[in-house]
Amino acid sequence: MNALVATNRNFKLAARLLGLDSKLEKSLLIPFREIKVECTIPKDDGTLASFVGFRVQHDNARGPMKGGIRYHPEVEHDEVNALAQLMTWKTAVANIPYGGAKGGIGCDPRDLSISELERLTRVFTQKIHDLIGIHADVPAPDMGTGPQTMAWMLDEYSKFHGYSPAVVTGKPIDLGGSLGRDAATGRGVLFATEALLNEHGKAISGKKIGFGNVGSWAARLIHEKGGKIVAVSDITGAIKNSKGIDIPRLLNHVKENKGVKGFEGADSLGPESILVEDCDILIPAALGGIINRENANEIKAKFIIEAANHPTDPEADEILSKKGVIILPDIYANSGGVTVSYFEWVQNIQGFLWDEEKVNNELKTYMTKAFKDVKKMCQVHNCDLRMGAFTLGVNRVARATVMRGWEA
Ligand code: GLU
Repeated sequence: MNALVATNRNFKLAARLLGLDSKLEKSLLIPFREIKVECTIPKDDGTLASFVGFRVQHDNARGPMKGGIRYHPEVEHDEVNALAQLMTWKTAVANIPYGGAKGGIGCDPRDLSISELERLTRVFTQKIHDLIGIHADVPAPDMGTGPQTMAWMLDEYSKFHGYSPAVVTGKPIDLGGSLGRDAATGRGVLFATEALLNEHGKAISGKKIGFGNVGSWAARLIHEKGGKIVAVSDITGAIKNSKGIDIPRLLNHVKENKGVKGFEGADSLGPESILVEDCDILIPAALGGIINRENANEIKAKFIIEAANHPTDPEADEILSKKGVIILPDIYANSGGVTVSYFEWVQNIQGFLWDEEKVNNELKTYMTKAFKDVKKMCQVHNCDLRMGAFTLGVNRVARATVMRGWEA
């Protein structure tokens, strides 16, 4: 199912549970602003290449809009819109003072050299610099981008507006990045998984875990806590070892070989079959829409932790819920990344650096509190965790919107 159709459907279900007025519902759904730009760069060989860049600013009722920039061949209008909307609910679930946005460029970053990526990032930043800002819209990394991309964005933005480190997060530490930001999404996934298992009287230790597309920090941290990671996949292939994969060795292999393919401590398997491997916990950690009506029936895991954004189609949600599978939704499970982005922004504005222990402790506090808030909404509305998280997020944004009012 199209990502935007799926996201709108979840939003509308939540709006109905909350009894939102239809006019308010409409105003929450329509993005604040959609930006689409042409980005043309000279390639290293002197020829020209043109790409389409997007920034969708979904909502700013609760604060500056916030969300990543994705470089991926599948970046297109509907997907970016869906991801921007999810950021609005995600920042509200995490209870950090932001709205939601998302951006991206339709390109395959693996086909571009470092200097081509730098030119592309600078051209994109030139096209949107007037519409982002410390108190307007704060980009961050997402799939296919990272600290270096943010360093170029910061540098290009600063040419127009003066040096402004808080305009992007996920920066290199030397440029005002936060300690712990790199690991934050993975650490948040660990805290979220622990909160859920704890509620079911279980611990992570000894649990069999499968990663659809490797979330390397989450895998490392869960392995350290005694979780047994039995299957992992990434763009190069999928591997399994029912006795448990040696994650530190795998991460070394990935560093040297740019992927899990060929790792000796496990057998290889078809990338699709990883989702239906025998495990207790399944953690889809990269692509959207990979759990759908084609494979939902075959899934054996009892818990799904959505480290990726919108990995589960609404149709799969229905099938899995009938099977009694418990899904911890993306807008809560992967909110650790944007939460530490918030800490980075706060540190930049204060001009005061936190140590890593403080970052990790604060992250745990936010993740634990958000889990309790989601559970409370599940009780109030007698719904599953996805609707618990959606009603929590949508309600907070709706309240802020009504309080701010619409008078021109
Ligand atoms: N791209 C991440 C996400 O989807 C992080 C966004 C941010 O830090 O602003 O949540």
